[in-house]
Amino acid sequence: MKHFTLIKYICYLALVPFLLTQCRPTEDEKKKEKHYIVATTGMIGDVVKNIVQDRAEVVFLMGPGVDPHLYKATKSDLDKVRRADIVFFNGLHLEAKMADVLTKLAEKKPVYAIEASIAKDKLRMMDNDANSIDPHVWLDVEIWIGATQYIGEKLAQQDSTNADFYRKNTKIYIEKLQQLHQKIKTEISTIPKERRILITAHDALGYFGKAYDIEVKGLQGISTATEFGLKDITELVDFIVKKKIKAVFVETFISQKSLEAVVNGCKEKGHTVVIGGTLFTDALGSKGTPQDSYIGMLESNLKIITSALK
Ligand SMILES: [Zn+2]
Repeated sequence: MKHFTLIKYICYLALVPFLLTQCRPTEDEKKKEKHYIVATTGMIGDVVKNIVQDRAEVVFLMGPGVDPHLYKATKSDLDKVRRADIVFFNGLHLEAKMADVLTKLAEKKPVYAIEASIAKDKLRMMDNDANSIDPHVWLDVEIWIGATQYIGEKLAQQDSTNADFYRKNTKIYIEKLQQLHQKIKTEISTIPKERRILITAHDALGYFGKAYDIEVKGLQGISTATEFGLKDITELVDFIVKKKIKAVFVETFISQKSLEAVVNGCKEKGHTVVIGGTLFTDALGSKGTPQDSYIGMLESNLKIITSALK
């Protein structure tokens, strides 16, 4: 009898590891357990990635060089947002052509607009029309810190298993953003005040200008969907000549042609202005480049602006 109990015991011991492996989730099951999060822009996607790290799957729809103002969701984008557990988007009419889809989706699942994290008095109104709010809020790092706090809290609420991890990472990422904010403030202030004028193809840097005390002018309005004409070029040329501006800046997703016309116009009036470099305003850089993160994108802009205007 005793012998029989011993055999039973040995069999049980042998079974333990087997039972344990059976209880452990397979790689596929682990993947399914992870939340699938979709962000519209790379800047939002990058914040989410910094917070969730490998505890959730994150994708963003608008890749490098994409113009968000004219962006139309593809079928594969729509599949992604339908599959998503959580969706983050900018709002403020940035994703103009996707707004309806996102609003409808919000009735069925957690869909959050960064817009909701920003106090009204921080928003840059272009005129009294509600559709004319400048959407480029990510270019003021202080506003983006508020957005990060908001994203971190929503993620913690929606994925309670990882809430502490998400809150800890949110705090760490915000510390990095605070350092970035200070760095931009300090370095822009080293450009002599009369040379602190930033001219770009479209008016993306209004929040940047306000936050870091640099005058900003765009050939086109806040959306690339607005038209510009000869009058706009002539006015900008006169402004550059009058202020003796040294450099203008192109943007990754906009053709250089419009600003080349400005450069040539200045030349005809006897003033030399150069294209000071390419700024990353509305999308991250390609994967593997220094601009493939939000922080990298702003650091790259800072370097280009300070070296061209100083
Ligand atoms: Zn823009």
